[in-house]
Amino acid sequence: MKNLRLIAVLVVAANLAVVAFLLLKTPADTRPAGVSEAIAPLLEDTTQARATYELGDQKEKLNLIVISMDALRYDRSGFGGNPDGLTPNLDAFMEEAAVFHDAAAVASWTLPSHMSIWTARWPSIHGVTNKLKLLSQDQMVPTTLSPGIETFPDHLVRAGFTSAGFTGGAGVQAMYGFGRGFETWLDDKPFAGFDYSAPPALEWLKANSSKRFFLFLHGYDAHGQHDLTGLRPRDVITDYHGNLDGSIEEQARLREEGLASIKNPGDTADLSGKVSADDAAFLKKVYDLKVKQADERVGAFLTQLKAMGIYDRSVIAIVSDHGDEFMEHGYVDHGPTLCQHQLHVVMGIRFPGFTRRNDIKTPVRLFDLFPTLFDALGLTGPSGVDGQSLMPILRGEKLDLPMYAESDYRLFVHLRSIRQGKKKLVLDLSDGGRRLYDLASDPEEARDGSSADPRATYEMEQAVRRWLETTRTNPQDYLGLKQEPIKIF
Ligand SMILES: [Zn+2]
Repeated sequence: MKNLRLIAVLVVAANLAVVAFLLLKTPADTRPAGVSEAIAPLLEDTTQARATYELGDQKEKLNLIVISMDALRYDRSGFGGNPDGLTPNLDAFMEEAAVFHDAAAVASWTLPSHMSIWTARWPSIHGVTNKLKLLSQDQMVPTTLSPGIETFPDHLVRAGFTSAGFTGGAGVQAMYGFGRGFETWLDDKPFAGFDYSAPPALEWLKANSSKRFFLFLHGYDAHGQHDLTGLRPRDVITDYHGNLDGSIEEQARLREEGLASIKNPGDTADLSGKVSADDAAFLKKVYDLKVKQADERVGAFLTQLKAMGIYDRSVIAIVSDHGDEFMEHGYVDHGPTLCQHQLHVVMGIRFPGFTRRNDIKTPVRLFDLFPTLFDALGLTGPSGVDGQSLMPILRGEKLDLPMYAESDYRLFVHLRSIRQGKKKLVLDLSDGGRRLYDLASDPEEARDGSSADPRATYEMEQAVRRWLETTRTNPQDYLGLKQEPIKIF
């Protein structure tokens, strides 16, 4: 009996010691007034779930790191429910992050999507919707962001952040307006992966991490135009007996053949006679191998950040810019559609000191990223932008955000979409056609429900048309438009 009492006393003492330890660890500005108030959340284990992400004094000192994993589909991630173990490193990162499970890109390919992240504006507003733009009837000139449009990184540079970007080039080159004001911007290798961009980023950090910095890291590892490193897909995927080899040349050919199948305004790409179900399954497996490589490389980079003592001195966001298609809608690659396989992206933010995963199910836009980061860090960004801070959601408030997306891919397709709840409408400006999807019952967007639900179709189309007015888009300019896709990408 005495022994039991002694054990009980020791257990109580140990618990009190743990509580005292946790209280001492709690930053002074968030420490509750009374002990009972402090113990209750500890017992309920909800301190992190109720995290407000107040960064306190750290706010003025933290660095900012944004990592963009190009063409990574949300549904390939473990934290997004994929069972194949493709992203263990990303999953581990997200275990300590605010994870936006329903984040949508506002454009379905690299250049406009990244520029929307950079500016928090709709593509039609920032104007960098293609690599070239039509100057006159037969003259194309490279597109670049207007000097009159401020970016969030402009403000970081102005606020004194030493800034550098290490990218895979192509759609994120400085010539389009990225890297303005940066000390360093690497973009010299087209469609390079993190194996190319991360090592110089780490070198740069060694020399610069004593200053307050903003680092942008980007890689095309999962992209169709980036080859697997050290692996030939046919050597690894042995249960496929078709003719494809999973090369970047083949991927480019299929992409162009898909576009060539669009004969008239309003047509959708159709590769069904050229890519069988087995071929598509093979291409998806090649993609999964690339996703794994992307994850390993980002994981290795994060490990280095920890070793250098940077990980817990930085707010770190990991995102993807769009997804990819493998014949879910008759096409391979991305850009000319606005299906969820393209728009549903990865988006997670790790705030140091908040080490529990916070699952956010509210639909948000990828271009809300910088407004959110700025809000968290107490920084002022450009005014009048279209994106907005998601911090209210993280603090438990509700936000109902307008979910639009657009694609004028290679000046060839002209699509706009809207999501309201589980309904999604895609409007094709080139023929005025519209398709309505119920993402709850038809997540693959296989059945057009516009004739079955004319009221929702009408109301959502009107919402799109009102939004078009705000983006100064005249739908008449696109009606009946028929031209060749511009030849650069
Ligand atoms: Zn991309």
